[in-house]
Amino acid sequence: MSMNSLPELDRDHLIHPVTSFRGHEAAGVRVLRSANGARITDTEGHELVDGFAGLWCVNTGYGQESIVEAATEQLRRLPYATGYFGLGSEPAIRLAASLAERTPGDLDHIYFTLGGSDAVDSALRFIRYFQQARGMPGKDQVISIEKGYHGSSTVGAGLTGLPAFHEGFGVPLDWQHKIPSPYPYRNPVGEDPQAIIDASTRALSDKIAELGAERVAAFFVEPIQGSGGVIVPPKGWLKAMAETCRAHDVLFVADEVITAFGRTGPLFASADEDVIPDLMTVAKGLTSGYVPMGAVFMREHVYATIADGAGSHTVGHGHTYSAHPVSAAVGLEVLRLYEDGLLENGRRMGTRLLDGLQGLAAHPLVGEVRGKGMLAAIELVTDKAARTPLPAAAEPGQRLFDRAWEEGVLLRAFPSGVLGFAPPLCCTEAEIDRIVEITARVLDRTL
Ligand code: PLP
Repeated sequence: MSMNSLPELDRDHLIHPVTSFRGHEAAGVRVLRSANGARITDTEGHELVDGFAGLWCVNTGYGQESIVEAATEQLRRLPYATGYFGLGSEPAIRLAASLAERTPGDLDHIYFTLGGSDAVDSALRFIRYFQQARGMPGKDQVISIEKGYHGSSTVGAGLTGLPAFHEGFGVPLDWQHKIPSPYPYRNPVGEDPQAIIDASTRALSDKIAELGAERVAAFFVEPIQGSGGVIVPPKGWLKAMAETCRAHDVLFVADEVITAFGRTGPLFASADEDVIPDLMTVAKGLTSGYVPMGAVFMREHVYATIADGAGSHTVGHGHTYSAHPVSAAVGLEVLRLYEDGLLENGRRMGTRLLDGLQGLAAHPLVGEVRGKGMLAAIELVTDKAARTPLPAAAEPGQRLFDRAWEEGVLLRAFPSGVLGFAPPLCCTEAEIDRIVEITARVLDRTL
């Protein structure tokens, strides 16, 4: 056992995701020790409300005993089963069937991954295979949206519209293309919903025409852009984008890694927008972050084309831990909890959260309050009329995060000066109110 303290061991050995390595060495780590419901406690005994559900994933909240029991029982009975060799496990099969029953339309075929990045990567591989199988190997270009986030795998990071995920990594960008974000608060066409929808569908049609529809395989989109700063497009936008894709024979892929499983209200945000994507990617809330798991859902026509195209040949895509039985057992219990009152509570608390944050709209630093369900953001500005963003050079993200932490809430502070909120769906009214009160104090301290 090393005599060094946890912060020293962390500094010397643990590489943190999406972090300035040198900045982290200087700042040091905060070590979390335990959590229950929507509360987390660090090793100093500091208790906070988790206003971000970990990393927008612990939708059920922490300490749900029935999830612990489901995982423990599965660990005892069968901790691992491969999906290779035609084998499977009961929880994986039941989870696939339960999800298929609940997804929109015939989005009924499910490949399980370990998280969101490999779900996106798997989707990309299946899409390329699909286009080959239907005799269109040249239909291999993909389009996504600026400020979108689709993970940080070697290929999928190309879809991510945040430059830090490309620069220096050699991400293949030659066949991955972007159109502007709908971003109502900062859209050159203004905030009128129809004008935004028209501008986005035009941008997508124009990009498809520029590349040639016979070369465009798919369009990837988050129903609400999460890591780009919780950007909420107008109602009807997602459907209009899906219809534009259909009109040009381009697969429509909804990346619901954040938005699914009650985060925006229903189980799937696409269903709420009356959209049946050709493929859909999920992770996070699928297992509520208790164990890793993601998934790709495919519509019948996508699955059948791949299956028929391959015939008796192997479709060479797979992971050792695909459909892991412990993750699947957790997924089944998490799904039961969502439908046993958590979605309902999340919807009520989401309204309370957004109403509470709207109450801060008059604050001189608040440019916009936006959100849907238990997903919300405040965009901070230095000049409300001119919508001037906080100066990036001052690194407002870390400062705001630190202040909120000291006051007792974990929230996301994006470098652009956007505060992100995604509390667990189990939050009580008092916890939601505390998030709002502390946010008000953080704003006052930032003036
Ligand atoms: N897609 C979206 C929309 C996400 O928000 C994320 C992660 O935040 C991912 C993909 C990547 O998921 P993971 O971090 O589990 O690899």
